Amino acid sequence: MTMVHEKTVLKNFIGGRWVDAEAAGTAPVYNPATGEVIAETPLSTAADVARAVEAAKAAYERWRKVPVIKRARLLYAYLERLRREREALARMITTEHGKSLADALAEVDRGIESVEHATAAPTLMMGDALAEVAEGLEQTTYRYPLGVVASITPFNFPAMIPLWVIPWAVVTGNALILKPSEQTPMTTLRLVELLHEVGLPDGVVNVVNGAKEAVDALLAHPDIVAVNFTGSQKTAAYVYETAARYGKRVQAFSGAKNHAVVLEDAVLAPTIDGILRAAFGNGGQRCMATSVVVAVEGIADDLVERLADGARKLKVGSGFEEGVELTPLIREEHRRRVLSYIKEGEKQARLVVDGREAMSRFPRGFYLGATVFDRVTPEMRLWQEEIFGPVLSVVRVRDLDEAIAVTNRSRYANGAILYTQSGKAARRFREEIDAGMVGINVNIPLPVAFFPFGGHKDSFYGVIGENGKDIVQFFTRKKTVSSRWF
Ligand code: NAD
Repeated sequence: MTMVHEKTVLKNFIGGRWVDAEAAGTAPVYNPATGEVIAETPLSTAADVARAVEAAKAAYERWRKVPVIKRARLLYAYLERLRREREALARMITTEHGKSLADALAEVDRGIESVEHATAAPTLMMGDALAEVAEGLEQTTYRYPLGVVASITPFNFPAMIPLWVIPWAVVTGNALILKPSEQTPMTTLRLVELLHEVGLPDGVVNVVNGAKEAVDALLAHPDIVAVNFTGSQKTAAYVYETAARYGKRVQAFSGAKNHAVVLEDAVLAPTIDGILRAAFGNGGQRCMATSVVVAVEGIADDLVERLADGARKLKVGSGFEEGVELTPLIREEHRRRVLSYIKEGEKQARLVVDGREAMSRFPRGFYLGATVFDRVTPEMRLWQEEIFGPVLSVVRVRDLDEAIAVTNRSRYANGAILYTQSGKAARRFREEIDAGMVGINVNIPLPVAFFPFGGHKDSFYGVIGENGKDIVQFFTRKKTVSSRWF
């Protein structure tokens, strides 16, 4: 097999082989720390998708009959390989995404955790049985794979999010077509290559590079039965509606605006440290990033001052620099979008820390320093929209009730966090808050692979989440058999 980035234009991976896309155009992959183009992603067409579907269909007929125990054994070999490649994969993530090497290593580890969990598929795929539902009548439920499934992934976790899907689609007996983000495709391609190196049969997992045209072809293809998607809200809504219109099973993980509520009794030092990490790690480009702090008035002045102080001191730099805390954005176009929010926000709210000041220190790359706004209100776009950059907004409220009300007004509901020492307040928060993932003094309430992942409201379109037991449900369908013997 060829290395993925020997050639400038990346290849698709179909039927176990690297193949050139028929794509007319390409999109650049940047190193965000330098601004250099490091590869070109081919923008695959419907013909490329059709080719992948043919390979997947052929592979599926054989793969679905491989006993689940054997499919799981392959994952044990994959785990070993991933552990050996951990460092190299992390370096690839840092190169194409820009995040710190420490964050990249953590990302690979969260992906590995999902593969570990997927080895439990023989247990998780078990059905139910009842010997006597009526006299002499037994009923048994079996789980089966769906067929050819597709997954469309975002730029911000090029290893973790594909690894939340690949092992599950595969171990449950499906054949998969993966469409990674055109902005960060290299790590995902390498993950698929590694899976083949440990023995995955050709065609079970295929990668088609590209953007909208490839996605549209996947959504419309009659032989693709299910679609897993993660990305921004507009695209998630579009994918959900379109895939549903074509009669497919679909789960679409979407944008976020995560609020962290800070009460007067919070232990301030770890709270501030935690908020800074959650807001500015990965350049603020996480769907679980804290982007709004909701501060009760009694501590708001102190909190804002200390947050601002911490934000000013964050070490901005390349992901490969030791101890770096704030890394560049994914590309210039995105940085311009984030800057437009700052420009509008400074006319409406109080700009306490201006991240634009850091830009002059970096003539190359897509850097932006930490930005903090105080006295933001729900009438402002700063509060309403996902910025997906290093911009933190502080909203001031009277008490916990108002904090919950403000948080619940957001159209998004991925994560929500409460910092307090009061069990009573924590219980009230847990009961009243509308969010899929709740943290109590936990900065990023991302569930481990054994628990389900998914938001509420506009943060998730679908019914069945990822991870936990949910993902087995998503990638399988049931047959309930009633038997009687005369
Ligand atoms: P994006 O929506 O731009 O792209 C996601 C995927 O959709 C990519 O593969 C892309 O090629 C494709 N795509 C883009 N535009 C399309 C269009 N018009 N039609 C069809 N397909 C299209 O998202 P992104 O910028 O790569 O990722 C960041 C977003 O993802 C943020 O909004 C973030 O909150 C979200 N995200 C959510 C979760 C979650 O679990 N809820 C996790 C990670 C990221």
